Amino acid sequence: MTPHTHASTDAPDAAALAAAGKADPGIVTCDACPVLCRIRLGQTGACDRYGNVEGRLTRMDPLTVLAKNPEQVRFLGADGEGGLLPSREVFVTAIGAGTTYPDYKPAPFIVGAEIDGVDTVTVVSEGIFSYCGLKVKIDTDRHLGAECATVRADGEPVGHVTTAEYGSQMLSLGGVRHLTGGSKREGVVTCATLLALANGNAAELAIDGGATIIVQAGKAPLIDGTREVRMRVGCGSATIGIFAQQWQGLADEVIVVDDHITGVLTEHQAGRFLGMRPAGIRVRGRRSTPGRYFQVAAPGLAWGGTDITDPLAIIERIDPRLAWPGLRLLMVSTTGEHAAWFVLNDALVPEPAPMPDAIANIVARIGENCEPALCSVLFMAGAGGSLRAGATENPVRLTESIHRGETRVTAGGAPVMLWPGGGITYMVDVTRLPAGAFGHVPTPALVAPIEFTLPRRLYAAIGGHVSRIRPLADILQTTRPRLEPPRPGAGFPW
Ligand code: SF4
Repeated sequence: MTPHTHASTDAPDAAALAAAGKADPGIVTCDACPVLCRIRLGQTGACDRYGNVEGRLTRMDPLTVLAKNPEQVRFLGADGEGGLLPSREVFVTAIGAGTTYPDYKPAPFIVGAEIDGVDTVTVVSEGIFSYCGLKVKIDTDRHLGAECATVRADGEPVGHVTTAEYGSQMLSLGGVRHLTGGSKREGVVTCATLLALANGNAAELAIDGGATIIVQAGKAPLIDGTREVRMRVGCGSATIGIFAQQWQGLADEVIVVDDHITGVLTEHQAGRFLGMRPAGIRVRGRRSTPGRYFQVAAPGLAWGGTDITDPLAIIERIDPRLAWPGLRLLMVSTTGEHAAWFVLNDALVPEPAPMPDAIANIVARIGENCEPALCSVLFMAGAGGSLRAGATENPVRLTESIHRGETRVTAGGAPVMLWPGGGITYMVDVTRLPAGAFGHVPTPALVAPIEFTLPRRLYAAIGGHVSRIRPLADILQTTRPRLEPPRPGAGFPW
């Protein structure tokens, strides 16, 4: 049995604690994570987030503040005219705020501001997340790998293929088991992969028994070296429904090839509704309902996410009692990328023929109705642990107020989707956060910004660290923040 080499991410080890306790002039000990780096003058710790600047432990990246009008904030904030600050247009994010893991002391910034006449508090802290990962949606028809197949980066397992969704394949990457439950290298590679993707960079992922993909949030996936262009208009059955009327009179049968649900027009409800004559062409696979077939071929990278390159391979038989010589047959994929036109000869065998312009136009329209294929990356983490103690002395009250909708959670100012149930488990689209929002520590774990905003009276009621509240203007004047406009489409916390 291979011994596990991982260490707990919850507490520093004995050696680190002993070293941290030794006074050594010129060296500062970083207590922002369990690694407890001892940092020499002018140097940074293992994660480069903290450094020793003139003998003081310093967060090396500037605090990021979202501002609708950065110039105005720069002028009013930096010049001490804090009372004039349009606080509704300014939001202190946790990016660059620092951490106090495992939050045995209040969060680095607890910001007081009046928003529309309401005294609010925003608790701002970078969280160190051992329980985190990415949900990746890859818009493609192509079969990337079997469900549950292992996804690797740099040879290490970093996740798995999960369910196929509408026009997309989903991957689940990271999670505490890959970060802490395997070899040290597995944890390190997992952390590096998550970090790259979360910060909007590309990562190469190889699926056991499947494809190799280059994934980057907001960009088209590169699958086995081919850039995916189109996200399907619908499944085979939906495509039949959408275009049935346009095909009527121009084709006698249309088969939309799809790895999941292949559609056959004249059998389909749409063809029946239009009074189309049954064509007698039976496709392989399992008939679900009339005109809808499952498993017509094996999954693959060809027509409609199947492995077929010759569409006629999915025709099982042609019924001579129903079909007729001269029958016009269109076979097309769910993106319109693959299409072929056939006419049945006297022996009722489909023969390739030039595609009429009117049919080619409809095939082009299938393509026109496909959206651009993209990769979407959602960061998912659980903030239900010690992170809450930096906000309040009574952590469960914070969780309860969040689930009652009284406390808003944001990540770098971006809105999050909260999971119901226990804890504070959330997801956020990484493209909505300012650049470089994520970091890491070598435990290994990801560092992500998180902010809790609530009315001041509620903050006091849940046991918040009220004495640590600092006015917004004070924070702007003392921290020299990086002022960033919100990302296009990301919105503003209020
Ligand atoms: S890894 Fe980074 S956060 Fe952790 S102790 Fe070292 S410098 Fe501080």
